[in-house]
Amino acid sequence: MGGFFGAVSKRDVILDVFFGTDYHSHLGTLRGGIAALTDNGFDRHIHNIENTPFRTKFESDINGISGKACIGCICDTDPQPILIYSHLGTYAISIIGVINNLQELTKEIINNSASHFGGMSGGRINTSELTAALINSKESFVEGIKYAHEKIDGSVSILILTDKHEIITARDKYGRLPVLIGKDGDGYCVSFESFAYEKLGYKDEYELGCGEIVKVTADKYETLYKPRKCKKRICAFLWTYYGYPNSHYEGVNVEVMRYRNGEIIARTDKEKNIAQNIDYVCGVPDSGLPHAIGYANESHIPFARPFVKYTPTWPRSFMPTNQNVRNQVAKMKLIPVTELINGKKLLFVDDSIVRGTQLRETVEFLYDNGAKEVHMRSACPPIMFGCKYLNFSASTSELELIARRTILELEGQEGEKYIDEYIDPETERGKKLRDTIAEKLKLDSLEYQTLDGLIKAIGLDENEICTYCWNGRE
Ligand code: SF4
Repeated sequence: MGGFFGAVSKRDVILDVFFGTDYHSHLGTLRGGIAALTDNGFDRHIHNIENTPFRTKFESDINGISGKACIGCICDTDPQPILIYSHLGTYAISIIGVINNLQELTKEIINNSASHFGGMSGGRINTSELTAALINSKESFVEGIKYAHEKIDGSVSILILTDKHEIITARDKYGRLPVLIGKDGDGYCVSFESFAYEKLGYKDEYELGCGEIVKVTADKYETLYKPRKCKKRICAFLWTYYGYPNSHYEGVNVEVMRYRNGEIIARTDKEKNIAQNIDYVCGVPDSGLPHAIGYANESHIPFARPFVKYTPTWPRSFMPTNQNVRNQVAKMKLIPVTELINGKKLLFVDDSIVRGTQLRETVEFLYDNGAKEVHMRSACPPIMFGCKYLNFSASTSELELIARRTILELEGQEGEKYIDEYIDPETERGKKLRDTIAEKLKLDSLEYQTLDGLIKAIGLDENEICTYCWNGRE
């Protein structure tokens, strides 16, 4: 994944971009970068942030820089922002998203223009550089960005800082990720997370539409290319999992959505009359907690934290990038409160159940520590498809998904033919899938939020939300 923040103003904005970018640290673990337009031209810094927070790495870089236009990013893939010298001028560019046809596009550009790309370790091409090459093949930023959106299979939101003290930004074609503009008395900022600029004193000004291209200067922002008339597909996982609680997208706050989601799950449980003698409702830290608060509020069952995260030395939620080490880190971070476990009937809510590996270990641990019953609620339906639109860490390969592995175990490759039935919790296959996962995880009960419940909790038109992970709808 990744996130970006940029600002252009009548005053110095280096500190704004330093903190604004840092507030996107929950969205990526690999690289951080800043590019400022100073009196001496561009000043760009990129660091590996796998084991050190963004702020620590960039503190010394920003000392002594001043500039009224600056962009920054956090990302899980390539070093960014990169500096480009082209017929459109010199500019810094950063992107968020995924380019599935990276190799084909690279070949096409090399064959058509005899141009070249800087290689990275592992022989990869920097996705920002490829996007810049597509943009540069046209006569203006607008035409170039439209062309990049047209050619790229995947999703790309773009942040460009030009040498004319302006930011040009574009939201991805289907609006899978947010791009927002904030305003203060001296200028404007562009951000993925709304809370990042609110905390810095900017007020909400504008949220870009699908594929919209906007130019931002210290005096104003203007749409250079209107939102496409298309089906919007904003990522539902922004609310259930990776969006920051204080943020809002399309006017819907993340934390409030999570409470609503938990409430709906609790009401469904009540209607079904299941798991009614629970001692505590608990969230799997961190993103399961607000869904659990919603559940507890609705069910009037006390909320408790039988696990508390040890954050002083493990402050980051995604690190490191290696899955096995990440699992180990996740395990070390969670410290139990045995008094709240021993002899208790516990109902946990998690943001989602992806691979199920960590969850199985957690459940075993709870029983080892004397839990009488462990019930689990997933804040979203079973994940059936890996995300092909974003570089989203929770669902990379379909065979890693517990739901798909279980279907394979139940009826081999033949099961693929019945995916639609497995998706539907009301069918025999749908029920079988959910029961089998509950058995595998040794749970006393397992229920998933339904897709309808999830959409209701978000509160937007279902046609504006991406639900591909759960139902494969493009
Ligand atoms: S496929 Fe899933 S993770 Fe990807 S954009 Fe859609 S809802 Fe989000």
